[in-house]
Amino acid sequence: MHEKLITRFAPSPTGYLHIGGLRTAFYNYLYARKNRGDFLLRIEDTDLQRNSKEATEAIIEAFKWCGLEYDGEVTYQSERFDIYRQYIKKLLDEGKAYYCYMSKEELDQMRAQQEALKQRPRYDGRYRDFKGVIPQNIKPVVRIKAPQKGEIAFTDGVKGEVKFKVEDILDDFIIARSDGTPTYNFTVVVDDALMQVSHIIRGDDHLSNTPKQIVLYEALGFKIPHFFHVAMIHGEDGKKLSKRHGATDVMEYKQMGILPQALLNFLVRLGWSHGDDEIFSLEELKRLFEPYHINKSASCYNFKKLQWLNAHYIKTLPFEEINRQLKALGFDLSVYEKAGFLLDLLRERAKTLHDIIEGAKNIINAPKNYDENAVKKFINEDNLELLCVFANTLENQKTSKDFEEFTNEFLDKRQAKLKDLAQAMRIALTGNSVSPSIFEVLEFLGVQECKNRIENFLNCRRK
Ligand code: GLU
Repeated sequence: MHEKLITRFAPSPTGYLHIGGLRTAFYNYLYARKNRGDFLLRIEDTDLQRNSKEATEAIIEAFKWCGLEYDGEVTYQSERFDIYRQYIKKLLDEGKAYYCYMSKEELDQMRAQQEALKQRPRYDGRYRDFKGVIPQNIKPVVRIKAPQKGEIAFTDGVKGEVKFKVEDILDDFIIARSDGTPTYNFTVVVDDALMQVSHIIRGDDHLSNTPKQIVLYEALGFKIPHFFHVAMIHGEDGKKLSKRHGATDVMEYKQMGILPQALLNFLVRLGWSHGDDEIFSLEELKRLFEPYHINKSASCYNFKKLQWLNAHYIKTLPFEEINRQLKALGFDLSVYEKAGFLLDLLRERAKTLHDIIEGAKNIINAPKNYDENAVKKFINEDNLELLCVFANTLENQKTSKDFEEFTNEFLDKRQAKLKDLAQAMRIALTGNSVSPSIFEVLEFLGVQECKNRIENFLNCRRK
């Protein structure tokens, strides 16, 4: 029988979900979905000093916002200490791991010697086959019996053949601290094996952990999964992405009015491509994404591209989806009459959801004040007069086309130009001169509301 493909995302909750983390999670998600496998979420929260419940909640919230659904329950490492202890015991019983009683003084001395000889700091295996008297008053750590020479090699789905010389990278590393708690590499391996994870896509900052993890897989008799180590995201200056380059917290993008569809499309392309295509629906990605085609080299963050994708998704997603995201920002467009019409009016030019919100508010709410600069620039006696007559002659126009025809006739009769009237009208109707197509604004508001707003504006001018 074909073995089920299982991927996972295993964040350590130390703050918020980083966009690099979201990219990793999304790659794992897509690959699982493509193969009708499972995508699991494991929270690596064993470091009680650095991990917090809030940070875990932040990750889950970011997942929800993006619509990334994981399968089954979330696994919390902090609830699995008994399991880890069991496997530590198993390795000790089988003679594959051992207690190390090295004191702090011994350790310092060993380090100093290695430093003097310009050697790599490493544990020298002094308790590996210890037969002497067990030192008292020392709470031992547990170390794995790692290979002492040769190579650890594996085929990475992104990087190809990867080889580490044992002498360069390994020693009998600690798998349980003196208080009995397991170390990072140990918990990752036990969990990935018990969760039956078959494919691990993660950042290449973990590449140097992989030989240690392979040692543990072998010692525990577990099957080694397929690894894919993905190069980091860099800023436009070629340095690793940080706050300096822009937002790194996924939820900041929500606040900026970026759609999750745009963010995910943006992230998937940072490191993976399919021909020259830029825009991918989720359904397409679930079919096309291929981790074996992830780029070897680092990718470059480019905010303009994200904005471009965002504008695309704002233009094309259905009303319900856009409104769901607007609601998440505290603005429900659906409560207004002709909401769909209003969205279509605004989305042509919007780069973020805030452009929609601001634009909608400007049109829905009659202006309380008027942009002074715009007034100075566009309002004079002549076009105030024009506006006044225009409002008085409006009758029962309904569609933007009706308004356009009426306006053209009106202007022809008076030998006036659209630009003189249009800017004055924008200011009178919305308070500023940047509203979208004026005829559509007129249609949205209807004759009576247009008359009222123009009259209010003229009254203000007359005061
Ligand atoms: N918990 C690790 C991290 O947040 C990831 C472990 C892994 O993917 O193997 O960086």
